[in-house]
Amino acid sequence: MTETEKLKDALFRKTKTGWEGIEEGLKENIFNFCDGYIEFLNKSKTEREIIKSVKEIAQSNGFRNIREFSNLKSGDKVYYINRDKSMYLAIIGEETIENGINIIGAHADSPRLDLKPNPLYEDSGLAFLKTHYYGGIKKYQWTTIPLSIHGVIVKANGEKVEINIGEDENDPIFTITDLLPHLASEQMERKLKEGIKGEELNLLVGSIPYNGENVSEAVKLNILKILNNKYGITEVDFVSSEIELVPAFNSKTMGLDRSMVAGYGQDDKVCVYTSIKALMDIEKPRTTAVCIVSDKEEIGSMGNTGMESHVFDTFISEILNRLEINRPNLLDKIFVNSKMLSADVDAAYDPTFASAYEKNNAGYIGRGLGLNKYTGARGKSGASDANAEFVAQVRGIFEENNVKYEFAELGRIDIGGGGTIAYILANKGVDVIDCGVPVLSMHAPYEVTSKFDIYEAYKGYKAFWEN
Ligand code: MN
Ligand code: MN
Repeated sequence: MTETEKLKDALFRKTKTGWEGIEEGLKENIFNFCDGYIEFLNKSKTEREIIKSVKEIAQSNGFRNIREFSNLKSGDKVYYINRDKSMYLAIIGEETIENGINIIGAHADSPRLDLKPNPLYEDSGLAFLKTHYYGGIKKYQWTTIPLSIHGVIVKANGEKVEINIGEDENDPIFTITDLLPHLASEQMERKLKEGIKGEELNLLVGSIPYNGENVSEAVKLNILKILNNKYGITEVDFVSSEIELVPAFNSKTMGLDRSMVAGYGQDDKVCVYTSIKALMDIEKPRTTAVCIVSDKEEIGSMGNTGMESHVFDTFISEILNRLEINRPNLLDKIFVNSKMLSADVDAAYDPTFASAYEKNNAGYIGRGLGLNKYTGARGKSGASDANAEFVAQVRGIFEENNVKYEFAELGRIDIGGGGTIAYILANKGVDVIDCGVPVLSMHAPYEVTSKFDIYEAYKGYKAFWEN
């Protein structure tokens, strides 16, 4: 290198891809780690399924329900499940919890289509289920793809039926129809956001009349008869159900160089998986390590399974009770002393849509963990803006542990924006920064991530807890 090149190397921010100069052994580790991730995605497509999978992983690593403990000591591993849809886990640290906790929080819910309370109807000899989309989607992306049905129906007597149709090789799948281009001249004049309207997202589920008979709504009757035989339900039982339609296709390795993962729901299951794997791999942390798997992030974190609820506070209070140190205001004091990585995905720079980003402050896939000092929209409105002192601490940990990272904004100024659960914990006094994996085609039925970034997320989360 010339003197000038040396000076440039010393003074410039590094922006190269993590794949450059990577050792074969590390590449193999990354690929193996991502095989586990792909398996996890294919097993768990909804928040209830995620919680079930995380519970299995936690139990096989020595975590137990906090209710099984009458008191806690350092090294104990506990979890708390909130209504089967969100979950908190902790490893009690060596140091007193009064000095704060280290939290990493991701969310298990992903954009999808939910069934309406009265979904089933027949029209022109076809049976359909009405849907109501959940989270921010481009509605046109959800037609003419294979969809599977996941969820629970709870009967008035409390009996719960679990439903999962479309994942097994021998299962039927379902789809939402779209108009053929030959007859779409009017539809094609619509704006893209109205290309498919909310009330046009109707799932086709049947076409045979009951007993081949010519009575009214015989196709709907036939569907209800099938559901009654299989699950013992009647039409009214849909009102007490939570049924979600998700892509029926599986997550896969992507690219000729096998460097990426394509799959549904990577926002934010990629951060759930990497943080849970990191938590399983730390032993005896100095500071109490806490992991959050939240629900309802995609619709604003409201409700008793969302991060806005106080159930997380209840979990920490339950820990304080069992450490036998609880007293008034202790919880507030702990939060003020605590640190958090809000583990949520970031928008990856897409050169095809370059004008939506600002190149110097975009997140690029393959450069490691993506950090957002702030999110928000229109002049940082609604943002939790991380304090410079805390940002320095976090990047210090990453640099010390050779974790590749980049700082980004969520797209060009004035074009849009978004948020995560960061502000909710920040409002309690916790130091929080957004820190996750960049994603291409975010919120689409098939999202893309880089295997390098997935592995760096795991490494970064582990380093944060071990610090
Ligand atoms: Mn997210
Ligand atoms: Mn999202």
